Amino acid sequence: MTNTKIRVRYAPSPTGFLHIGGARSALFNYLYAKHYHGDFVLRIEDTDIERNVAGAEESQINDLIWLGIVPDESPYRPNPKYAPYRQTEKLAVYEKYANQLIAEGKAYKCYCSEEELALSREQQIAAGIAAPQYDGHCRHLTAEQIAAYEKEGRVPTIRLRMPDNQTIAFHDLVRNDVIFNTNDIGDWIIVKSNGIPTYNFAVVIDDHLMDITHVFRGEEHLSNTPRQIQLYRYFDWPQPEFAHMTLIINENGKKLSKRDLNILQFMSQYRDLGYLPQAIFNFILLLGWSPADNQEFFTTEEAITAFDGQRLSASPSTFDPQKMMWLNAHYIKQLSAEDYLDFIMPFIKQVEGIERYEKDQIAFLANLFKNEIKFGSEIKELAQPLLNFQATADSDELLMLEQEKSREVIAFFSDLIQKAPNLEPLTIKEIFKTIQKNLEVKGPALYMPIRLALTGRSHGVELVNIIKFLGLDETLKRLTVYR
Ligand code: GLU
Repeated sequence: MTNTKIRVRYAPSPTGFLHIGGARSALFNYLYAKHYHGDFVLRIEDTDIERNVAGAEESQINDLIWLGIVPDESPYRPNPKYAPYRQTEKLAVYEKYANQLIAEGKAYKCYCSEEELALSREQQIAAGIAAPQYDGHCRHLTAEQIAAYEKEGRVPTIRLRMPDNQTIAFHDLVRNDVIFNTNDIGDWIIVKSNGIPTYNFAVVIDDHLMDITHVFRGEEHLSNTPRQIQLYRYFDWPQPEFAHMTLIINENGKKLSKRDLNILQFMSQYRDLGYLPQAIFNFILLLGWSPADNQEFFTTEEAITAFDGQRLSASPSTFDPQKMMWLNAHYIKQLSAEDYLDFIMPFIKQVEGIERYEKDQIAFLANLFKNEIKFGSEIKELAQPLLNFQATADSDELLMLEQEKSREVIAFFSDLIQKAPNLEPLTIKEIFKTIQKNLEVKGPALYMPIRLALTGRSHGVELVNIIKFLGLDETLKRLTVYR
């Protein structure tokens, strides 16, 4: 491999949004390419036409770019040497190779109908065969039989003739030696009756023509690999190196299912919630790969330097949303003041009542939560009580406001802030000291009535900051209710 330029690909089918599993495949391919100064190609595998979803291609590419996983080549950045990058745009190429295989006797037309195939499957199951395969009915048709089927109007599929009882072994970067036997596979369809190639066929033609050297993909494709290797053998093409990354499981040890709506699994969901791309990037990096030391946080550059294709985990990786949230909180804290404001504005702008405030007040408010929030949209919930009084404290806690002493504190505090030169934290602290001395109250008895009256909650950001943000009029207005 020393003289060959590394070329890897992420090859999604445009069937939906970018999923965490797809994002990991893309990331590992990308990092491997960048580590070895190679190319990262994005190819669209859209031959399963009924499953294609409008807009899925664009959204997947946008999500990848958002994550910083930018393809060197794609349908939007084609290298003329390798274009097109969508499989449906090169059907003639697959047809040519299918015809070549037929001419060489390595593939054949199969005229079996759906019903006949189903019947054969049932019979095999009834005979105790656990993994039924194609029964070989059309393997050796005579010219007359073919003519008869054609006359009947049957439209054939094309099947690959798998050799009998041959070992297909390969070295996998994750699983080491993997061995299959062709007898366990059976002749499989390379071109459907509508003339569209199947995934396993198109993928080999493309990987070869696009000079792909390494294939990092999910474990679910492991059983496809011997089929693909047989094609490399028939065409006499060099096969790429394979790395089948282990399953991503949930906390109950089950494979993540896209249908499980209880777990957010799509990148766009996290973006909408206010996750930072660098946090997700860092999280996914550790989903099936580990560094040589205990490094936890990685910049893109550090990840590229460290990721050499070794240290891929052979056991399933657990998707732990809490860890992702923790990483996100870390990256939010790391943002520069300016980047934080850019990031948080879209979320804080959604808080009811925010339109009453000036830009610098909004910035002040946003900064109160920088060290607290775990994801951007959380600020809506946290900032809400400052903008609109809403009693969400426990009703027992609110009873405190009925007490004589609380009312005295509130009244005294209201008087003093009206006379104060400003509402800066130091001034407010002095005011609290004065009340403490005069009314002989301290601790929660002193602060809690003010906090409850101002926000309706028993906890939250520092009281002095709440008062500074609310300003004199709004603070007095809220306190008046209880004095
Ligand atoms: N289109 C396939 C998928 O989305 C790609 C598999 C591969 O990388 O070979 O799963």
